[in-house]
Amino acid sequence: MATTGILKETKTDENVPLQKRHSIISGKSDFWSSSDEEEGVQPHEKAIAGGQPSPPYCVRNVEQHAFGRREIEIAEQEMPGIMALRARAKEDKPLKDAKIVGCTHINAQTAVLIETLAALGATVRWAACNIYSTQNEVAAALAHAGFAVFAWRGESEEAFWWCIDQCCTPTSSWQPNMILDDGGDATHLMLKKHAAAFKQIKGIVEESVTGVHRLYQLSKAGKLCVPAMNVNDSVTKTKFDNLYSCRESIIDALKRSTDLMFGGKQSVVCGYGEVGKGCCQALKALGCVVYVTEIDPICALQAAMDGFRVVKLTEVIRQVDIVITATGNKGVVTREHMERMKNGCVVCNMGHSNTEVDVHALRTPDLLWERVRSQVDHIIWPNGKRIVLLAEGRLANLCCSSLPSFVVSVTAATQALALIELYNAPQHRYKADVYLLPKKMDEYVASLHLPTFDAHLTELTDEQAKYLGLNKVGPFKPNYYRY
Ligand code: NAD
Repeated sequence: MATTGILKETKTDENVPLQKRHSIISGKSDFWSSSDEEEGVQPHEKAIAGGQPSPPYCVRNVEQHAFGRREIEIAEQEMPGIMALRARAKEDKPLKDAKIVGCTHINAQTAVLIETLAALGATVRWAACNIYSTQNEVAAALAHAGFAVFAWRGESEEAFWWCIDQCCTPTSSWQPNMILDDGGDATHLMLKKHAAAFKQIKGIVEESVTGVHRLYQLSKAGKLCVPAMNVNDSVTKTKFDNLYSCRESIIDALKRSTDLMFGGKQSVVCGYGEVGKGCCQALKALGCVVYVTEIDPICALQAAMDGFRVVKLTEVIRQVDIVITATGNKGVVTREHMERMKNGCVVCNMGHSNTEVDVHALRTPDLLWERVRSQVDHIIWPNGKRIVLLAEGRLANLCCSSLPSFVVSVTAATQALALIELYNAPQHRYKADVYLLPKKMDEYVASLHLPTFDAHLTELTDEQAKYLGLNKVGPFKPNYYRY
């Protein structure tokens, strides 16, 4: 994605200001040095001050739309599955009259999903699920194309909730009936602030581990009043997004932010789940010495069998050059650990939100914070030791790199199919509970992506199908099968 984008921009846009071209070349697709950002002005404050308490959209700078449109077009090239779904289903319009509240990362790939949902008949209102991950120019392109998008990079906490509220609040012309969430914030706000509007909601599609966890908690407490689809645990999501995507983006994030050389460096990855496995594979491939920490003996054994030393963090913390968290947990890297790290150690989180590294514990008067680049802080101890913290402990790949569009295509197709399924399901198919995407749909998502590789599936013969007790067109595996 980046290469074509760079060539296209630098060749054709002679009149693009140099600073913007640099931000394109460096892969930082937002324009960080926009004066508004430096002054800390939040776009919604401007909108409200300008007498627009409910603007049709709110983004950093809609004038950036042309750049964003190109990024979306580039992403489309690498998102064959979701584009195939768009082409196949646009006549049927399976999401006709759906009104979807979306709360996900807003980048070129999500834009492809958003535009696909619209092509399938839905109206959407969209906010960001992360204050740092919005590609401003993509948000601008969506706004310019007429989408109600409320997001910019560097939202304040207050702005973050304001943006989500713009999507959730029912009006005379907007009564949402579906939620597509990543982290559970839109669902949380709807339940808390617009409980009555929840009656219209036909279903929730949730993307993240945390959001799914919250849904199961709600369900257990009897507070979930609509069916919800856990797409996080569909095979096409966990294997492809968590594993393959992180395998590619961890290196990119570290390289772009630190210019680090990996060969021979010592790294520790906390957590050997899907994300951890991806990070370990990538680091190993570049010649890193990789240690793993785990709490679960099964995952620890997998790590050991894959050739990684399984250690306690304290055993290696003094010697490692890179620390990566990928546990979905909190307080995995503490101040105590950071006290012991060596000078120049890079710390980043690939797991959950901003809880895995105890960043809060670093905000003490004895430590100096020096912002050396966008998303890169040096934390300096009184003796001159410094550690390099990426994205203030938020997801490094989302903040410092671009995601491989192909993998996002798999996730996006899964999300779209989950929405279609919940929206069109007969009333009694799903109760107010949390469901996994039907296996057949998972398989369909994968099949949408096979033509890219000119991959040819073998068809079961009648005899073989009978022998295995399968339908010739799937599903091919039982739900408990682990891929
Ligand atoms: P997972 O459950 O498969 O793996 C997490 C692993 O961490 C588990 O094996 C668990 O035993 C281990 N763990 C928990 N606490 C630990 C601790 N204190 N020390 C060491 N190990 C510990 O989950 P996953 O699919 O790998 O996802 C991990 C996190 O990454 C989740 O929060 C998920 O939302 C997030 N995620 C991030 C991205 C991204 O792009 N960065 C993509 C997908 C998922």
